[in-house]
Amino acid sequence: MLTIYTNALSHRHDTGFGHPESAKRLDAAVEGATRAGLAQNILEDSTGHPDTGRMIARVHSEDYEKELEEACQGGFQFFHSLDNPISASSFAAARAAVATSLTAAHDIWRARASKRAFVIVRPPGHHAERVEAMGFCFFNTIACVAEWLREQPGIERVFIFDFDVHHGNGTQHVFEQRDDVYYASIHRYPFYPGTGAADEIGVAAGRGFTLNLPMEAGTGDADYLRATEERVVRIIDDYRPDAILLSSGFDAHRRDPLGGMHVSEQAFGEITRRIVECAERHCEGRVLSLLEGGYDMEGLAASVAEHLVAMSGS
Ligand SMILES: [Zn+2]
Repeated sequence: MLTIYTNALSHRHDTGFGHPESAKRLDAAVEGATRAGLAQNILEDSTGHPDTGRMIARVHSEDYEKELEEACQGGFQFFHSLDNPISASSFAAARAAVATSLTAAHDIWRARASKRAFVIVRPPGHHAERVEAMGFCFFNTIACVAEWLREQPGIERVFIFDFDVHHGNGTQHVFEQRDDVYYASIHRYPFYPGTGAADEIGVAAGRGFTLNLPMEAGTGDADYLRATEERVVRIIDDYRPDAILLSSGFDAHRRDPLGGMHVSEQAFGEITRRIVECAERHCEGRVLSLLEGGYDMEGLAASVAEHLVAMSGS
């Protein structure tokens, strides 16, 4: 059973005219769900999750959260850099992205209401650092979910696979000194945000629990699939996680205006299938996927459709 979550507040994060990280992306992702024949699996979430504030505080500083909230009250402006326009509802949208993702995690791992979920929210999260907004991201949503999962009984190891075309610097930095949350990323390199070299493998107790698979500009399906099968799948099988999270960015798609890669929607489906198979071997098939990047509307819809067909399989 696959549940697809949306949150109306995601539409209200206004990034201004012409910004690639726009609310249209939500419609494209929903269109992908419809193409996959899964429109009836969409659940509009507005309940919030009681642990939202606590999990944001675990990942970000109190001062940072307050700074973002106050800045949004000032209306449209840029926050920390020109990449990160905000407006009156951006704080509420970023918070709702975390809340809905926690609700999805709760439904999978606590209520056991579904086995897999895809969360269609924005702003994305994987670039957000503890005290810095970066790359259209404000709160590191997937890090908040991983922290929440680690509090759940029986979940001792969480595996995050990030296939957004950009390296998830924020997520890596949150967990790089730990062995209980493994961060693996396949991304274009060198490229924004500058991190993600192959020799970044974790720090101190976390050494050996970060995997970076840098790819040259223009990389296509064969190299992505090979890296997934020969590196990511093997590492998941060694690590035996109790939960798998996906930072699902579709900006490596060949149509994407920012990514510069040549990945097809079918390859996103194949990559997803490999991860779902790992989840079946190690964690009762349970996978939570969060939307990160993806800036061509047709590429995003087509990729989400293939991703969801693979997520909805057995
Ligand atoms: Zn990206």
